[in-house]
Amino acid sequence: MPTNAPPLPPTIRVLERGWLSANSIVGFEPDGSATIVDTGYVQHAAQTLALVAHLLGERALRRIVNTHLHSDHCGGNAALQAAYGGPRQCPIEVPLGELAAVNDWDEDALSFRATAQQAAAFTAARGVAPQQRLQIGSLEWIAYPAPGHDPHALMLFETSGRILISGDSLWRDGFGVIFPELRGLPGFAAQRETLQRIAALRPRCVIPGHGAVFDDVDAALQRALQRVDAFAADPLRHARHGLRVLLKFQLLQHPQGLPRNQLRGWFAAAPLLAEVGRRFWPGVDSGVLFDDTLDALCRAGAARADAATIFDAG
Ligand SMILES: [Zn+2]
Repeated sequence: MPTNAPPLPPTIRVLERGWLSANSIVGFEPDGSATIVDTGYVQHAAQTLALVAHLLGERALRRIVNTHLHSDHCGGNAALQAAYGGPRQCPIEVPLGELAAVNDWDEDALSFRATAQQAAAFTAARGVAPQQRLQIGSLEWIAYPAPGHDPHALMLFETSGRILISGDSLWRDGFGVIFPELRGLPGFAAQRETLQRIAALRPRCVIPGHGAVFDDVDAALQRALQRVDAFAADPLRHARHGLRVLLKFQLLQHPQGLPRNQLRGWFAAAPLLAEVGRRFWPGVDSGVLFDDTLDALCRAGAARADAATIFDAG
């Protein structure tokens, strides 16, 4: 976290690690235990364990809460729970709307199969419902629905200090891909309503799912509202953005680079990418979409390519 980040209560710590792993928020409880909200991507699970152990010291992790169940937010759940005594000692709470899918480990409903991303299976003890109050970091938070990016997502608001844990519903510069829209389901209007709900809460500071904690919340909301309106007016632009985000996430998993043919093969085979291609660019070959998406990432400085290998950049 940069040193100029807005101050948080001493019972709240943020582990910020770029874009492959979402931020984790650790709360210190009055009984000497700790809670964590979101646990990063599975590939970083060992790093997550080390960071959490360092932060907790003698404290025991007694609860894991997820804002939503994308792979970069719940990938450390299984490893953390195993390290801190298993399901009884360290129960997991997920948005109520996903409780059944988690406990059936339905990878289709949970989006892991569609995006060809990885996750380590876990079971959840409880679902968190909208309007439910949660004690995290010796503070009281209220769960609010945050559909748009993900239909079941929740955000957590702490009323006395007006701190928002926003997940992927609001970042300092934007928000997560509106996944339902990629699948032909409505999502832009829900995202707009979520942003308006945030505006009505008037947070003093936001702990986003990715990036540093920020307190210029009005400006972030203005940017996000303009962005969702632009996407709603031009769904193809959003679909192009979605392909770039998914390709970038794949590159982030391979810091040593990926053979071009292997990446092209992943792009053609991942069910969600194939579905987006069919829906938004019917008749266009997957290889052409891959080349266009990769070119756009390279032009933006987010990827680098030589003849045989593609690298993450930026
Ligand atoms: Zn997400």
